[in-house]
Amino acid sequence: MSTSQGPTLSKSRFSAGLQCLKRLYLEVYQPELAGEPGAGQQALFDTGNRVGATARGLFPGGRLIEETYDRHGQAVAATAQALADASLPAVLEGAFTFLGVRIRCDVLRRNSDGSFDLFEVKSSARVKEEHIPDAAIQLYVLEGAGLEVRAVHVLHINSGYVYQGGEYDLDGLFQAGDVTPEARAFLAKEAPGDLAAMWEALALEEAPGIEVGLHCKQPYLCPFYGHCRQGLPEYHIDQLPRASATLLAALRSAGILDIRDIPSGYPRLTALQQRVQDSVRSGRPYVSSGLAREMAQLRPPMHFLDFETVNPALPLFPGTRPFQVIPFQWSLHTLESGGRLYHQAFLHQGLDDPREAFTRTLLQAAQGPGPILVYSPFEATRLKETAEHLPQYADGLTATRERLFDLLKLLREHYYHPGQHGSYSLKDVAPALAPDLGYGDLAIQEGTVAAQSYERLLAREASAEERAALYQALLDYCQRDTLVMVKVLEALRRASGPAAL
Ligand code: SF4
Repeated sequence: MSTSQGPTLSKSRFSAGLQCLKRLYLEVYQPELAGEPGAGQQALFDTGNRVGATARGLFPGGRLIEETYDRHGQAVAATAQALADASLPAVLEGAFTFLGVRIRCDVLRRNSDGSFDLFEVKSSARVKEEHIPDAAIQLYVLEGAGLEVRAVHVLHINSGYVYQGGEYDLDGLFQAGDVTPEARAFLAKEAPGDLAAMWEALALEEAPGIEVGLHCKQPYLCPFYGHCRQGLPEYHIDQLPRASATLLAALRSAGILDIRDIPSGYPRLTALQQRVQDSVRSGRPYVSSGLAREMAQLRPPMHFLDFETVNPALPLFPGTRPFQVIPFQWSLHTLESGGRLYHQAFLHQGLDDPREAFTRTLLQAAQGPGPILVYSPFEATRLKETAEHLPQYADGLTATRERLFDLLKLLREHYYHPGQHGSYSLKDVAPALAPDLGYGDLAIQEGTVAAQSYERLLAREASAEERAALYQALLDYCQRDTLVMVKVLEALRRASGPAAL
């Protein structure tokens, strides 16, 4: 257990330790080894902060402890003062320490009998398994610090709430899930062993020797993943698609970390994994015997379509629900029969619901013959939802949906390039199949950042310069996605051989 001079645990360190003791050790002693949080991850933090601040409105008269996290001692003192004032109905962001564990509690609501109810705010649509340890460690500290805790709740977003415009109806927007029994069970059965293991790990001279595995990405991608992967084989076994924990454990226990070292005919590999192994070993792409046939059917004129969407926890437009997926941008490349390639695009500029303008412009642009290539079923789902929302466009949207052709499905069934490193994400396929056309030169390089940028475009405080830069960055990003699809299809056509030319 920690001494007053030793390291401390916190809510986030406790959950890091549950994922991996090495992660906990590195976070405490070598945080500089962590990768910078990506823009997508930062967007998630920002959403969490916005949801937390909005949820405080449910506790009018509550005292917010404003001391920052690095002033924990002062925050604890301010919290003690607020708790002593029986006229305060709630304490927000209260700070506590018990046996080396420091926490800040989102909300502590005072009950008439002097006990408190704890609320942990989460920007999710339901209580998740990983929320329980978060709540339990707070219960541990609060009761250790002498507070009587009557109930523990996860305060999450109600995905059935329909926004009416103006101020949110907070009672409709949030839902409290009572997790008292689960938190108490965790505290009784698992927390003592977990805490002991964490203190023991923190007393080591060096980080525990834990290898990378499936646990590095569950429930969250570990920030030390880049560090821990250093020196591992380029074709590490974790690139085997859909590899189970049992398969990876069996390979590890046999001392096999490189896909190329798996013995030929290893009985536990699926056909897909076998295909990946063959491709990695030979250094050549896997090309199915059926690819040429598929490619022969894909002839210009054809189109390449991609949507950008936003699905905010806090709804942006009247009539929409939390987490509802709202398309606001499309990019369409068209390859004519004569070989000419041209591009059309739409990005909603107003502050209103973008779906009507999105739909009207898309139906006009996608007119004409030929399949519309997309990458995943995502666009088909959005077209179906939009047809339900805008029945006046349903016929056109349904006809457009029937022309969609999923390039990802084609690729998954017929092709694998060792440079994909186990992933069929367009961002990983691009360097392998369209190496001259990456995303590195773009201001926006992933969908979550595109969504966040669109929300920023809607923010009234954004300056004209910022707005113009975001607008251009969004246009560039979506256009790149469809252009990469054009190049991927060209690469597949070359790979499928002269029969398909
Ligand atoms: S990358 Fe994996 S092994 Fe390394 S610290 Fe993180 S969870 Fe542990």
